[in-house]
Amino acid sequence: MNILLPVLAVLIGFGISYFVYKKSVTINLLLAFSGSFLLSVTVLEFLPAIYNTGTASIGIFILGGILLQIILEYLSGGAEHGHFHLSKKDTNFPYVLFMSLCIHAFLEGIPIDSNHHLLYAVIVHKVPIAIIIASFLFNTRLSKTKIIVFLIIFGLMTPLGSYIQSNTKVLDPIVIYLDAIVIGIFLHVSTTILFESSKDHKFNIYKFGVILLGILLALVL
Ligand SMILES: [Zn+2]
Ligand SMILES: [Zn+2]
Repeated sequence: MNILLPVLAVLIGFGISYFVYKKSVTINLLLAFSGSFLLSVTVLEFLPAIYNTGTASIGIFILGGILLQIILEYLSGGAEHGHFHLSKKDTNFPYVLFMSLCIHAFLEGIPIDSNHHLLYAVIVHKVPIAIIIASFLFNTRLSKTKIIVFLIIFGLMTPLGSYIQSNTKVLDPIVIYLDAIVIGIFLHVSTTILFESSKDHKFNIYKFGVILLGILLALVL
């Protein structure tokens, strides 16, 4: 059942973008909240749990995850944290963006089956991202078929990561290192969201409020 929740998050995101999406403050607040909640769960639970396994060179893999996310964002133009720099006139399938998003989504599926708070954090993180990706794609000249294929495969990547981790043993020998890489990815994505949410460093009481809310929610969970 849990495996289907990320799909639901993506579907909700697509639904919102298709029916009611207006480029509004709501999405930015949701994004800021998701970044703060994801960062908090990562720092409060995920990071200590992985460090406490006592595995050598965990820190190196966390740094590796940060570097990997930086590379993925070069390829996607920042779509993982809510940015798009794709030409709207493009009619070719955006393979590079697609691959980058899929690698990111697959990896973040790996740790969430065994950590429910992280599962919630990833779901909350996926809703605004799915809204932004879908509404961007629907505004390009890409055919509806291409967009739907893009969204379906992208939506299935996180559950696929969870499924492989929880139902097979293929990842077992390296899962601790993959988890460390995902920590790095989450640290980079969430801090980037928070950084970009404070435009020109102007204080915004609403944004600060939802950021506090994200931290508090992670603390009381
Ligand atoms: Zn960005
Ligand atoms: Zn993500």
